[in-house]
Amino acid sequence: MEKVIIVGSGCAGLTAAIYAARANLSPLVLEGRQPGGQLSTTTLVENFPGFPDGIDGPQLIMNMHAQAEKFGARFSYAEVEAFEPNGDTVRIKADDEWLETRALIVASGASARYLGLENEEKLIGHGLTSCATCDGAFYRNVPVCVVGGGDSAAEEALFLTRFASKVYLIHRRDKLRASKIMADRVLAHEKIEPIWNTVITQYIPDEKGEMSAVKLRNVNTHEERLLDVACVFVAIGHDPNTKAFAGKLETDPDGYLLAKHLVESKHPGVFIAGDVADRVYKQAITAAGSGCAAAIEAERYLSSLELK
Ligand code: NAP
Repeated sequence: MEKVIIVGSGCAGLTAAIYAARANLSPLVLEGRQPGGQLSTTTLVENFPGFPDGIDGPQLIMNMHAQAEKFGARFSYAEVEAFEPNGDTVRIKADDEWLETRALIVASGASARYLGLENEEKLIGHGLTSCATCDGAFYRNVPVCVVGGGDSAAEEALFLTRFASKVYLIHRRDKLRASKIMADRVLAHEKIEPIWNTVITQYIPDEKGEMSAVKLRNVNTHEERLLDVACVFVAIGHDPNTKAFAGKLETDPDGYLLAKHLVESKHPGVFIAGDVADRVYKQAITAAGSGCAAAIEAERYLSSLELK
């Protein structure tokens, strides 16, 4: 029987792990197949307090991991498949094994969304990706495109200018959603060319199955044209990772977990933190804050069980 299991090892899960470990609860963190969450696939983080010169996302995550481990957090790459609240305990199935815990913190984050076009699955890793940090360096001196108009798209586009000969930013409207500072940087960059009011309707691979071009459609004029690109970087937001909890924890229509009160779910002993429950702020610092709150509430809950 575990005292605290934390699902997810992004900013929320690792902050929860630091707090729970410092409370001597020896939490078990189930990291999943892609440890580190979204920060591990980002570049410079300029808005996490305490780092006036910014810090690399993967470095920030590694620091948090080391900090949690130092206080006694344990880590496993197991991926959660099922979940069953069971009176005063919670059962959770990870990599075919059932684990039991008194308290559970769900911080399973969110995954990158794709466009849902034909051949998408096959092309991921062959000129279609959602991670410029991971794949940008493969596309030197060739044209690439980024899809989206938010901060992620702006960040990816700026990062890709280090490698690509040209970065097209394809956005379905004529105004970026990104914060002003990011939008200004993007629009001022000589290598970035925005293509407004436009969507991709088709990926066009070459004979080796690698992306070679995309078909574009202007949403106002319905005009279509081809654009040669060696890679498409999709940055159109994320979907919460709640599959394992479907039907057991309350969600909104888009799958984000709903809290009964702050970080408490409707099941006693089950707490929620980070982007899996946040459709509004989605910042590293807000994820860290809710991870901290979830660990404090879990600790209080465990103390109340002991009193009982
Ligand atoms: P986002 O803000 O939700 O933006 C998603 C973008 O993709 C929007 O421009 C949206 O268009 C577009 N889009 C959505 N679905 C689409 C589709 N099916 N086809 C084409 N375009 C589509 O997501 P995000 O950029 O990932 O940012 C998420 C949160 O993280 C935000 O709060 C953001 O501020 C934060 N963030 C911050 C930083 C930073 O501060 N450095 C970096 C990254 C992310 P519309 O505009 O028309 O809706």
